[in-house]
Amino acid sequence: MGDPRAFLNIARQEAGYRPVSERITDYSQVEQTLNTNSRKLQASRCMDCGVPFCHWACPIGNKQPEWQDALYRGKWKEAYEVLSSTCDFPEFTGRICPALCEKSCVLKLSCDQPVTIRENEAAIVEAAFREGYIQVKTPERNGKKVAVIGAGPAGLVVANQLNLKGYSVTLFDKDEAPGGLLRFGIPNFKLDKNVIDRRMKILAAEGIRFEMGVEIDVNHLPEGFDAYCICTGTPAARDLSIPGRELKGIHFALEMLAQQNRILAGQTFPKDKLVNAKGKKVLVIGGGDTGSDCIGTSVRQGAVSVTQIEIMPKPPVGYNPATPWPQWPVVFKTTSSHEEGCTRRWCLASNQFLGKNGKVTGVEVEEVEWIPATDGGRSTMKPTGKKEVIEADMVLLAMGFLKPEQPKFAENVFLAGDADTGASLVVRAMAGGRKAAAEIDTYLTKV
Ligand code: FAD
Repeated sequence: MGDPRAFLNIARQEAGYRPVSERITDYSQVEQTLNTNSRKLQASRCMDCGVPFCHWACPIGNKQPEWQDALYRGKWKEAYEVLSSTCDFPEFTGRICPALCEKSCVLKLSCDQPVTIRENEAAIVEAAFREGYIQVKTPERNGKKVAVIGAGPAGLVVANQLNLKGYSVTLFDKDEAPGGLLRFGIPNFKLDKNVIDRRMKILAAEGIRFEMGVEIDVNHLPEGFDAYCICTGTPAARDLSIPGRELKGIHFALEMLAQQNRILAGQTFPKDKLVNAKGKKVLVIGGGDTGSDCIGTSVRQGAVSVTQIEIMPKPPVGYNPATPWPQWPVVFKTTSSHEEGCTRRWCLASNQFLGKNGKVTGVEVEEVEWIPATDGGRSTMKPTGKKEVIEADMVLLAMGFLKPEQPKFAENVFLAGDADTGASLVVRAMAGGRKAAAEIDTYLTKV
């Protein structure tokens, strides 16, 4: 291992974001990078713990201590080889993973200064692309065919893993381009779409067939394949069925986010179909990833004000003894978007939308209390009767997604990603993709 005592002298250094005043004028990635030497020093802080909690917390089982050590020694190719042995697309997770590994790092627990694992991962994969360590592989075909439905992170991992094993893989997606929520959900300022395109070129050169713009009825799967993997995500957003829901100006978050990403990709929309916050008072309902992406997008579009409300209480700052380590709350995250201009409020339930001439003008909200359960179960919510109106001429619903009901599938049909687990994280979708690919391989090896 590298330098077991480095963490005593070297502080955690994040690359940080571009200044707010600059970044809100464009949609380019907000996160910056460190120089090579600083990056190696950051990797040296890894203590190579005997029991690497980072590894166990990572859904794909990344071997963080091993690639931190290679990075510290300047062995970038070796670092990439170890990293890519467990992670198909570190350029995605290196940018947008909430880094469960860092929350479990012993340096997080002991001094709240975890190793910059996610940033180090991004640096390794970028070096690998730059230095040409990522080469097109041409696997020998085994004569069996697999259809993957859905080209989000889960489907891409299934396709990649099976293609590399010699299966002929066709990837179907109803959207015009692959990536799923990476492309048509997550804003460019978190993940530039060139990063997806760069990888898709390699996958196509390696033999994966992309059938984009093709919606598949999962009850009538296309014929001619030996196995299928359904990776269709969680397309249905949770609605808020309260009085006034029919008013104009109330949108699901993805209506705005997907449209903005398409506009940045060069598409145009008629004026009456635009979901744009320019000159509007925006209210975002929901405090997760989707909500924060709505904030950053509204700010860039030119909103007059952005308020975000959440029904749950404000989370405690720092380590929460009520949450057994190494678990942590993954909602209510503070992201780069919050510091770009947003008022955040907690413990507010929405009672009704208010409007004039058919358009939304505000939301009546009511403060709620959360009563802890005495039996260790879930807290219960109690409305307090304290009501107020938050003015808004655009409301974005970002309250999560419904887990799809799946039909009973035949023996050769597998499931992966959010379609299987319900809405989750990119890294979990990728983990599900690896698991499903292994199961498909086992199944097809037997038949
Ligand atoms: P998806 O990414 O949803 O992909 C499913 C694909 O299936 C889509 O391309 C869809 O078009 C296609 N499809 C659906 N039905 C059909 C059909 N019948 N025929 C053909 N194709 C079909 N996670 C993080 O880790 N970090 C983040 O920062 C983060 N930010 C997020 C921001 C937003 C706005 C949202 C909505 C989610 C975010 N997530 C984030 C969650 C993450 O994006 C998802 O967990 C992940 O994309 C799920 O991957 P998936 O492949 O299962 O599904």
